[in-house]
Amino acid sequence: MKVECNFFSGSAHILNDETIMDIIKELARDPGQEDPFYVLDVGDIVQKIKVWKLKMPRVDPFYAVKCNDDPTVLEILAALGIGFDCASKAEMQKVLQLGVDPSRIIYAHPCKPVSHIRQAAKFNIPLMTFDNESELHKVKAYFPSAKLVLRLRCDAAKVQCPLGIKFGVLPEDAGVLLATARTLDLNIVGVSFHVGSGCREPAVFHRAIAAAKQVFEQAEALGFTPNLLDIGGGFPGTRSSSLDEVSDYINKALEEFFPEGCGVKIIAEPGRYVVASAFTLATNILAMREVCDDNGFILSTMYYINDGVYGSFNCTIYDHQVVYPVLLEEPAVGEHHMSCSIWGPTCDGLDQVISEIQLPRLSCGDWLVWPEMGAYTLAAAGTFNGFPLPKVHVVVPYHTWLYLEEHLGSSVRFTSVDGTGILDDCSSPSLRDEDSLLAKKNVYRTCS
Ligand code: PLP
Repeated sequence: MKVECNFFSGSAHILNDETIMDIIKELARDPGQEDPFYVLDVGDIVQKIKVWKLKMPRVDPFYAVKCNDDPTVLEILAALGIGFDCASKAEMQKVLQLGVDPSRIIYAHPCKPVSHIRQAAKFNIPLMTFDNESELHKVKAYFPSAKLVLRLRCDAAKVQCPLGIKFGVLPEDAGVLLATARTLDLNIVGVSFHVGSGCREPAVFHRAIAAAKQVFEQAEALGFTPNLLDIGGGFPGTRSSSLDEVSDYINKALEEFFPEGCGVKIIAEPGRYVVASAFTLATNILAMREVCDDNGFILSTMYYINDGVYGSFNCTIYDHQVVYPVLLEEPAVGEHHMSCSIWGPTCDGLDQVISEIQLPRLSCGDWLVWPEMGAYTLAAAGTFNGFPLPKVHVVVPYHTWLYLEEHLGSSVRFTSVDGTGILDDCSSPSLRDEDSLLAKKNVYRTCS
């Protein structure tokens, strides 16, 4: 039996025994299905949040919206009481529209347009990061009561996407900024850092937290009373990775420099960790071409698929991701693998997804599935050459649905999966706001 719900911004399919691959097969079988599409597994996101709370109970996650601003992702995180890291007024607005309280938002961009600072003031979002003097003067002029968080630079030795080259003040230069803030009578409430996205040196968190402690002391010496430490992003998001090592370093460093009871609130800005593994992309082979030598011997096959580097696979360029496809249909046992390359659908020669891979012989119309495509994919994708962005199909494992029902309060009613019901009285705190999309769209129905 197929069960759907409209609990999120669109309709969602509730999984009983089916897997994500089953769902993709079902969608791909539709003869009208030609465009690429995603399947978003809400269960994966809920599980990630549970694991985070287990491993780092002292660190409150503020999801980095820039990583993937899919409405269902934002709605589910809002409902779970997670905070948000926003980089612009549009992101702040998007989160506020879900009924999230402004106190659950940090405007975590050290270099902000004036109009966005003014908008943050109008939205009553005072918490914001900075790392340079000009920012202090802008804040003084447009939002003098802002709660400022000084972003430090502390780079991981090994990282997928370094950020320190662009943002963060070196700890030894922090004193000058603190003194300027003091002179301008601004309010410094804390310290942040981002070790780099896709951090592969977990020990860097110990270094960064130690550096933050020193800056706390400098700020206190100048008369500030900082009470917020923001340990940024950089956490791994794939299924094969674990939070264990990084959380060990973080928990130990917090115990050493910011022990429980010290009065400092700890937050983080995870992006990749929350969404990477929750999204699976399905693409279709729309054309193919063989590359032969002078004797007509096939050297390699070029497959053209319906999503490319101007779409979801922008991640191979901007986010330095290495992507890998899985065949939707199992190849015959013993099938010979051949050298091939995979290309996107646009007219640009740069639009190459994989330059060399061994695959069995495929045909036009076959589907390639790309796991773990949730981070920095759709968020930066465009429609160059008129190719549409993939649609996102939302699925919720049955046990996740039950967990959400429990988490969102006993007033949320869930009737049997073969009946039609209304989740009528959403009185959990995160759903009280009249404007909450969740509160408005909380009907589910079944269909055969
Ligand atoms: N916070 C800030 C300020 C960022 O710039 C980013 C990513 O660029 C993040 C958080 C999220 O980082 P990650 O996806 O590595 O967790």
